Amino acid sequence: MNRSCWALGIRKRKLKNRLRGILHPPDEYYGKLHGRLTISFRLGASVIIMQKRDYYEVLGVSRDADANEIKKAYRKLAMQYHPDRNPGNKEAEDLFKESAEAYEVLRDTEKRQIYDRFGHQGLEGTGFHGFSGFEDIFSSFGDIFEDFFGFGSRRGRTSARSGASLRYDLEITLEEAFNGKEEEIVFKKNVVCEECAGSGAKPGTEPQVCPTCQGRGQVIRSQGFFQISTTCPTCRGEGRIVTDPCEACRGLGKVNRERSITLKIPAGVDEGSQLRLRGEGEPGEHGGPPGDLFVVIHVRSHPFFSRNGEHLYCEVPISFVQAALGDSLQIPVLDEGKEESIEIPKGTQPGDTLTLVDRGMPTLRGHGRGDMYVKLNVTIPKRMNQRQKELLQEFAELEGEKVTQKAKSFWKKITQ
Ligand SMILES: [Zn+2]
Ligand SMILES: [Zn+2]
Repeated sequence: MNRSCWALGIRKRKLKNRLRGILHPPDEYYGKLHGRLTISFRLGASVIIMQKRDYYEVLGVSRDADANEIKKAYRKLAMQYHPDRNPGNKEAEDLFKESAEAYEVLRDTEKRQIYDRFGHQGLEGTGFHGFSGFEDIFSSFGDIFEDFFGFGSRRGRTSARSGASLRYDLEITLEEAFNGKEEEIVFKKNVVCEECAGSGAKPGTEPQVCPTCQGRGQVIRSQGFFQISTTCPTCRGEGRIVTDPCEACRGLGKVNRERSITLKIPAGVDEGSQLRLRGEGEPGEHGGPPGDLFVVIHVRSHPFFSRNGEHLYCEVPISFVQAALGDSLQIPVLDEGKEESIEIPKGTQPGDTLTLVDRGMPTLRGHGRGDMYVKLNVTIPKRMNQRQKELLQEFAELEGEKVTQKAKSFWKKITQ
């Protein structure tokens, strides 16, 4: 398209407005008017008058360019004017189509020879008429875009969207967090409808190209000198509409189903740990990947142990005699059926804490464990029999001197 054609802006628009009322072609096509002037109609929405440019000029290559050069040149332009990068930009759209048409001719030895000898008119004699729209271009040159966008040809104006991610809250016990476990979880999620394979159309029928936007998903309105591109109200931007909906999914293309998954909960999970199950979320749209399922772990509080990260804490009551004389004890641990023996040293004071290295929670990294802290609570008996009282009194008499001395020096210290 040459510059002078854009300078026709205002006149072009007036012509377009006049044409809008009378034109209702089924799809875009090129109709030849007199001489080298061709006119493109697209559902009354926009009409561009253009003088066809030389295909070599369009791609910016020399007349003796080889296939590789031509492909490279086209790729560059296609990326530059790709509709995903230029949403609603009519000029980019036209340049995108123009370069696709040039490439279509120059990549084909036979078409290129005809064009070299007879120009645009020669090709029209063979029935060649460029592309009808984006879909056409993407289905012809899908491989060109694949390298760049990481996915295949786009269909219409609807681009791939990944599915929504889901969350599942799972409560487990501290023992289960310690040992790890397999758990079957059952939840509901949308899956692609088996009846219509997700199209939403009744089996045997297909979604139709939206008549309002001709599959583009966008409609262009003119307001004075401006063109405003908005999402098509008929198809909500999908480019297609279902006229005969699938009964199983009522045209949605998805159905809500129960799904059960056996989950491997690794040893060491903590409150708030998240397990991510890739692809177990809702299905994607237009070929997009499905979302993920996040299982959020909640660990029930334990009657004996509390936890901070990989360390475990517990409190053990001991008698004042055990504290004074020392003892060895068995305490329950989180390994089912196992016990841990602890040594209470002689002269243990109330609140003293024993550290059992490597006896805490397993780490999620899979090696090593945290520590276990055992706080010793010394209990004083509230009731004693006569014999016990006598023995303690005897004990006190033996200790008497020391106790009094200790108390004296204590009071001395704090009153000085
Ligand atoms: Zn269905
Ligand atoms: Zn539409």
